[in-house]
Amino acid sequence: MKIRVGFGFDVHALQAGRDFWLGGIKLDAGKGAVGHSDADVLIHAICDALLGAANLRDIGFHFQNTDERWKGKDSKYFLKEVTKMLSDKDWKIENVDCTIALEKPKVNPHIQEMKNVLAPLMNITVDDVSIKATTNEKLGYVGRGDGINAYAVALISKV
Ligand SMILES: [Zn+2]
Repeated sequence: MKIRVGFGFDVHALQAGRDFWLGGIKLDAGKGAVGHSDADVLIHAICDALLGAANLRDIGFHFQNTDERWKGKDSKYFLKEVTKMLSDKDWKIENVDCTIALEKPKVNPHIQEMKNVLAPLMNITVDDVSIKATTNEKLGYVGRGDGINAYAVALISKV
């Protein structure tokens, strides 16, 4: 069996009055991430981890942020498509592990729901999706609440 690991990182600015999509669900925060699509930073990091593991470039390569088709697009679509790109190359996703860095709101109460939404998009069980959250200890743009970071690693395998 061949196994590969991939890493993904994404960042988005936060702005008042925007919808806040994170991990495939909408958070009630009074502000949200800015971006061409729905700006779901966690899904974007996961997509990059999966694409990186399979050596298939990155999310911006496949879904360009100048393409009108992706304007306001639900990022769950991207994750589904990335999963399909991997399975077309006979890659099976084993697990993903992620960390969100965000000052507020607290995301811990929403993590189970995010896992429930994301796992089926990748054709894996909820147990194979780990999502962790941390603050940035009030440091830098994340600490000031001006932005959000997400990191993800993914393991994939092929028989
Ligand atoms: Zn992004």
